[in-house]
Amino acid sequence: MPVEPVLHQLTIPTPFAVGDVHIYVLKGDTVTLVDTGPRTKEAWESVTAQLSAIGLQPEDIDQIVLTHHHADHAGLVEEFRHAVLYSHQDSDRFLTRTQSFMDMHDFFYREFFKQLGLPEAYLALIEKMKDPLKPMGNRGADAYITEGDTLPGLDGWRVIETHGHSQGHVSLSSAGEMIGGDILLGHISSNPLIEPPFGINTPRPVPQLQYNDSLKKIAALNPGRVWTGHGDPVLQPLPLIQERLKKQHERAMLVKSMLADKETTAFELCQKLFPSLFKKQLGLTLSETMGQLDYLLANGEIKEAGLAHGAIIYRAEGVTEKV
Ligand SMILES: [Zn+2]
Repeated sequence: MPVEPVLHQLTIPTPFAVGDVHIYVLKGDTVTLVDTGPRTKEAWESVTAQLSAIGLQPEDIDQIVLTHHHADHAGLVEEFRHAVLYSHQDSDRFLTRTQSFMDMHDFFYREFFKQLGLPEAYLALIEKMKDPLKPMGNRGADAYITEGDTLPGLDGWRVIETHGHSQGHVSLSSAGEMIGGDILLGHISSNPLIEPPFGINTPRPVPQLQYNDSLKKIAALNPGRVWTGHGDPVLQPLPLIQERLKKQHERAMLVKSMLADKETTAFELCQKLFPSLFKKQLGLTLSETMGQLDYLLANGEIKEAGLAHGAIIYRAEGVTEKV
């Protein structure tokens, strides 16, 4: 008889504003680590001490499943060289960070930020946006996982694609339990971060819409508990999901009302929505702003009304032009 995997939560310090990250061990005949923590000395000491407390050495980890590529979740992959590394294919470009990808990454953000109306002076911040990539390992996946996949020794668990917070974000689901990475957090709403497109002539992904679809997918699965990447497990996912979707819709409608007063660029909106935060957290706040615009565009609430100095101008539908 195979041994039913037992779930252990480990809590690991990170150098990021988000605070500690939770990673998970599923210990059965096969030992699976879900996420690794960031690549810092403190995190590694914490991981090894907590593994030891449940009778494991790092060498005992047979396989790693990454919920997503962010450094707080995927930083220590190189410390588990012997373990098979699984991630979604769409996470792999950030795990390997080849020169050609990073060149494309910088080019994409430069052009994209111009379209959002960002003044030239701010384009230097693209370099700063790469800071969170520093505490990452440099190791691509050994095998890709996708919707519905099962993993060796993890009977009853399957992979659910939950894209949005990042491209390639996945969760693991089993009989009412879900390990959800950062797709649903109890204490904060998770950011739909803009990532570069997957091909030269491919449009960029629209993470806010993906994120909402992922929340609806989780609601349909209706797990009894979501083990999170940060904060307490979510014991009542359904009302939280409904609240998250409602709040996002309300925020989008607020953005629409701001567009009714004036045609504006995404960067102008971002400054209004995040007057003090935008300089410190440019990538995050622009992603958040763009998320609301993508949502409104997809629902026909606003439209693109042309270009001004290379920047897209947005206008609320049905609102007449001011003279
Ligand atoms: Zn995280």
